Amino acid sequence: MKYIEIDSGSGFCFGVVNAIKKAEEALSEGQELDCLGDIVHNGQEVNRLEDKGLKTINHTDYFSLKKGRRVLLRAHGEPPAIYEYAQKENIEIVDATCPVVLQLQKKIRNKYENLKALEVQIVIFGKPGHAEVVGLMGQTNDTAIVIENKDDLRKIDFSKGVCLFSQTTKSVDEFNQIVELIKNSLADSLVFEHYDTICRQVSNRIPNIKDFVKNFDLVLFVSGKKSSNGKVLYEECKKVNANTIMVADESELPIDLIQKAERIGICGATSTPRWLMEKIEHQIKNLE
Ligand code: SF4
Repeated sequence: MKYIEIDSGSGFCFGVVNAIKKAEEALSEGQELDCLGDIVHNGQEVNRLEDKGLKTINHTDYFSLKKGRRVLLRAHGEPPAIYEYAQKENIEIVDATCPVVLQLQKKIRNKYENLKALEVQIVIFGKPGHAEVVGLMGQTNDTAIVIENKDDLRKIDFSKGVCLFSQTTKSVDEFNQIVELIKNSLADSLVFEHYDTICRQVSNRIPNIKDFVKNFDLVLFVSGKKSSNGKVLYEECKKVNANTIMVADESELPIDLIQKAERIGICGATSTPRWLMEKIEHQIKNLE
């Protein structure tokens, strides 16, 4: 008989719990509810909420909505243009932006306003086009420079000051490396402000999840492929246990590997519902 364990530290972070709670409350009022983008980077959870009446729309759909619609903004947050359109067209916003992201948006807007006259460049360490990054860029009228890795540092003009922030789900180690590289490229006389704005809901999970995955012949890391924090946590698991496989849901289970393994660990991202990890555990038990 196999030993199977679900990591007690994996599953939704409070930002996602809050967004889903707001969606469920709004849906229970009976009126229609649109969600701008997938509420969470997890197809199965999106399907569960869509079965309750949530309709996922994209940004093109959004800008053709008219008065009377209700739109949920997910935890990633949105740029000011979304709120301006809602006000203009009388669209009701159910704002489920995570408080951590809201705070970061405000911080970037303040720095943008205060440092504009000094020509200091706002730089965001994050993934270009990621929903949270789009929301952060919007705080600077889309003038911020987004860097995803060391190669992107060439986008920065090192004859001007820099004010650096991070997308909330990036790796702390990589952020610190970027800070050092910028520091070494800028003259001491130039402004260099850097703010580690990485959410500890992700980074604090790393030591625990690394400890967890050590104990198994096979680890199933359950996450939607689009999840940024999923990628970070998965890479950390792989460093400790090379037999870690990412699966989006039970349809992707590596049956051969599962049959050979005696100890199987199941863990996931901050966007992975606990019920999905339990479903996978159940499915594995049924294979025996
Ligand atoms: S990972 Fe952090 S910032 Fe992102 S939704 Fe969760 S709590 Fe909020």
